[in-house]
Amino acid sequence: MIEKPRGTRDLGPEEMSRRRKVEEELRTVSRSFGYHEIMTPTFEHTELFLKRSGPSIVEEIYDFEDKGGREIALRPEFTAPVMRMYSESMRERPKPLKVFYFGPAYRYERPQSGRYREFWHFGTELIGPDTPRADAENIALAISSLRKLGLKDFSVRISNLQILDIFLKEREIPEEKRGQLYHALDNEEDVKDILGPDTSDEFISFLNTPLSELEGYLQDTSPIEYLKKVLETLEFYEIKEEDYTIDLRIVRGLDYYQGVVFEIDAHGLGAEEQVCGGGDYNLGDLFGLDVSSKGFALGFDRVVLALEDEGKLPFPEKGQYYIIPIGEGSLGYSYDVLDMLREKGVSADIELMDRGVGNALSYADRADFRYSILIGEDEVKEGTVTIKEMESGEQKTLVKEDFLSEVEKSE
Ligand code: ATP
Ligand code: MG
Repeated sequence: MIEKPRGTRDLGPEEMSRRRKVEEELRTVSRSFGYHEIMTPTFEHTELFLKRSGPSIVEEIYDFEDKGGREIALRPEFTAPVMRMYSESMRERPKPLKVFYFGPAYRYERPQSGRYREFWHFGTELIGPDTPRADAENIALAISSLRKLGLKDFSVRISNLQILDIFLKEREIPEEKRGQLYHALDNEEDVKDILGPDTSDEFISFLNTPLSELEGYLQDTSPIEYLKKVLETLEFYEIKEEDYTIDLRIVRGLDYYQGVVFEIDAHGLGAEEQVCGGGDYNLGDLFGLDVSSKGFALGFDRVVLALEDEGKLPFPEKGQYYIIPIGEGSLGYSYDVLDMLREKGVSADIELMDRGVGNALSYADRADFRYSILIGEDEVKEGTVTIKEMESGEQKTLVKEDFLSEVEKSE
């Protein structure tokens, strides 16, 4: 038997209906922030992802040689593709250019709950402005999106990578050591190995210092001022001090991040709790461009899991009407009713298996229809329909036109 590949999922009707709801909500919020939807190819030249993505992504890349001998990769993320697209076809557009995307991404990882080989990213890019207010807009959109979805139990961590960078530069730590260090911040032993005992003690206490006291460690305090401006602007979006923490340990998996960065965790998710990552990055130079870009990617599947966990996703709408024609003579009339309901955009279905009334009703019940509509000789003759509410079993006969205008009112 052939089964689905490891790390992939089949999504059934209930799940798809819930995902579509979340997806539409996210689109609505992004549009309300002035962003426009775009799409890039599912696969790209592998090289696009190798240059600046950092070691973790490179290991996880799903790549292959195509029939023409090209090195091709399924996209592991959208940021590099969007910047490629920008450089190929969107450069001339007025700035700021605000775009969002929603689609599947692929990573060869060890699958577990919340971690798949095929998963969905909903993300945004804000191209052009390099100001604290642009960083705030970026962070605010991510937080507003989760708030709009009704997610409650999440936390936001914000940093400015420049703060770490200046600290290390001022202590003349060479660039390659900085790279190593950024992947070892959670492990004090590794930090000690990389920096030596003196600098590492100072570095570790620096990492644990609150924003208000960080200035003591730096000569050039401009990145701290910059971050403070971002945070002040967040107030305008109803994002207050208690809504986030400052965490210098954020480094982001992708090596092209350079300025203000942030991560969001949803706590109901257990180990795979990060639902969003983003910030300011430099990919322009990959294409010989000098352009600022800020964005984020929401792990759509984890967001859905977190919402389910908090009971925020209603079970999908039941099917509305199931029409059961009784006898050949009532088919024409039944199809008229079916047509009128569908025309109104109401979900309506008709018995296709020529089952008797009892079996058709039992199907309507099991398939979770709200109402069955019985149409026999009498209904056709009198211009009526007999409606049975499936849950209560209540049944009434209405003039067809009255029934249809009632449907209209309840929509
Ligand atoms: P993680 O640390 O969980 O591997 P990441 O830093 O690799 O995350 P990003 O590249 O920032 O993730 O992607 C943005 C978001 O996409 C993550 O916050 C996460 O919610 C989601 N995500 C990343 N990898 C997967 C995956 N394999 N399956 C499902 N969601 C994922
Ligand atoms: Mg990862």
